[in-house]
Amino acid sequence: MIKKKETRDTRISFHELKSLLRAIFVNNGTAAETADILAENCAACERDGALSHGIFRMPGYVDSLKSGWVDGLAVPDVTRFGPSFIRIDARNGFAQRSLAAADPLIRSAVRETGIAVAAIRNSHHFSALWPDVEPFALSGHMAITAVNGLANVVPHGGRQAVYGTNPIAFAVPVENAEPLVVDQATSVMANGEIRLHALAGKPVPDGTGVDREGNHTTDPLAILAGGALNTFGGYKGSSIALFVEILAGAITSGQFSFENDFTGFPGAQTPKAGQLLIVIDGNWGGSTNFEARLAHLCTQLIDAGQDRLPGARRFANRSVAERFGIPIAQDKLQGLRMLAGEEP
Ligand code: NDP
Repeated sequence: MIKKKETRDTRISFHELKSLLRAIFVNNGTAAETADILAENCAACERDGALSHGIFRMPGYVDSLKSGWVDGLAVPDVTRFGPSFIRIDARNGFAQRSLAAADPLIRSAVRETGIAVAAIRNSHHFSALWPDVEPFALSGHMAITAVNGLANVVPHGGRQAVYGTNPIAFAVPVENAEPLVVDQATSVMANGEIRLHALAGKPVPDGTGVDREGNHTTDPLAILAGGALNTFGGYKGSSIALFVEILAGAITSGQFSFENDFTGFPGAQTPKAGQLLIVIDGNWGGSTNFEARLAHLCTQLIDAGQDRLPGARRFANRSVAERFGIPIAQDKLQGLRMLAGEEP
């Protein structure tokens, strides 16, 4: 069956979308403070056209909360350890709540020592990473983050999933411009993309993944039914996925991706993993004009023929949505209103 292309035929303000999403989180057992943070994050993804982590994710959040796999009421435990390290135990809650709780300590550590390292464990991350790094770039710093997840990616040449789609992101300020924000999975394709190919009955390109026996396949259903994705970029990309696993799963003392086990939690979807965030004041490296240097670098990239900078697509979508509202399909909006407990 070929799925019809979805038409986003109406518009909603950021504020209204955020309050609908907030109500859904609260209705499903999330503390008000956490609901606020997650709703802001999810609405921002939808606004920026980061659609794989916008409202598309709401059923997964709700099912995970209902299953008891993630604790919507968890209050993170935040400790400053030494001058620059901040350790956070998310206590089986969402990573974004942990980051918000640690934000003042992260900013103090950067101010006092030029660098902060925040290590989050026992956390669930079900969103894009750019919302975690972009605010630091807007404050003039570089931020780098990595998250591991559910084992659904084979190491190069492997036959069994070990890694998650293990995203990594970084952001830096650019003089007189939007920040430069790079945010990408380390798998050849995001898991949501495979699901979309399966729904459309379309094969995936050669090299995307393997079936449950570890044989290469272009059948998205075989990848989803016990198979796995490949990492991007052959053995070099595979080592970047390994790097993420070490940063997010080992340094944090969180779980490795292959240690996730949904047994006993039907409906659970959010990966329980770890996250490492490093924030650096670029001027501590000796530069007195960090942002101007980065503007110079970006200009070189465009002059060299790169058609756009990473993050530029999102900023363009954001600017249109701020003027005209966020495009959304009427039936999806209706579905959100019902989940939020509004009258039909
Ligand atoms: P994409 O391949 O769509 O984009 C990766 C990066 O490349 C983005 O910064 C993007 O900028 C940039 N980019 C894309 N096209 C170009 C171009 N032509 N020129 C220059 N830059 C470009 O992302 P992925 O599919 O790999 O990942 C999608 C999202 O999924 C990410 O936000 C990631 O964090 C998230 N994710 C989350 C996971 C989790 O466990 N929480 C797991 C895996 C992925 P732009 O945004 O402007 O398009």
